Amino acid sequence: MSFFTPDKEKLSKARDRLLEEIAANARETKNWTGRARFSDAVMAAMAHVPRHEFVDPKDTVAAYVNRPQSIGHGQTISQPYIVALMSDLLDLEPTDRVLEIGTGCGYQAAVLAELAARVYSIETVKPLADQARRRLKSLGYDNVEVSTGDGFDGWLDQAPFDAVIVTAAPERIPQTLIQQLRPGGRMAIPIGRVHETQTLVRVTKDAEGNVSEQAGLPVAFVPMVAKKFR
Ligand code: SAH
Repeated sequence: MSFFTPDKEKLSKARDRLLEEIAANARETKNWTGRARFSDAVMAAMAHVPRHEFVDPKDTVAAYVNRPQSIGHGQTISQPYIVALMSDLLDLEPTDRVLEIGTGCGYQAAVLAELAARVYSIETVKPLADQARRRLKSLGYDNVEVSTGDGFDGWLDQAPFDAVIVTAAPERIPQTLIQQLRPGGRMAIPIGRVHETQTLVRVTKDAEGNVSEQAGLPVAFVPMVAKKFR
């Protein structure tokens, strides 16, 4: 067994421990999130996606520690509990089409791909987008499309979406993304100023198109970078 291929048993133990920690975190943060536990579908997706495939091979076991990690280009792979929480806040149906802003390594996109029909994911850093696209394909996630671009523009050709998830933090909710959410749609988005603590916000649009916001957990994401002034 080489350093780069830790045994299956070790990984599956680490994964079981991670799932327990996510469940414990959900209970502990209930007052912030309004959810003491995540859906069976979300927990099954967290159990199924091989998180170690999304990090550097030398970090294989560390991939199952409930922490964010560096993935190069100054970017991070989100903390597993946060990935589970944001996925849960979207209340996805298997027929849903989801827009993700901030593909990064593609881990959150893979979790979404387990829960929804189709995932459209936008990443500004081209090498990250290219790598995530290749990785998701090689893992068999055929229902994810990755595009290099500016998430502030959304994905007009494919709009409207049943759900939108933003995994980098803008200072306020981009109106374009609200417009690309269908009536009845849900959005999860961290909002806050650069390098300050942000708030994870759940946005809903009702059947009449009225938008409401529910502020939740304090979180720390990398900033959502605007190519132009908005
Ligand atoms: N979803 C990832 C986490 C990504 S970290 C996961 O599963 O772990 C946030 C990502 O958002 C970074 O890769 C960053 O490059 C990207 N990003 C920042 N601003 C952006 C923008 N305006 N449009 C698209 N992606 C953006």
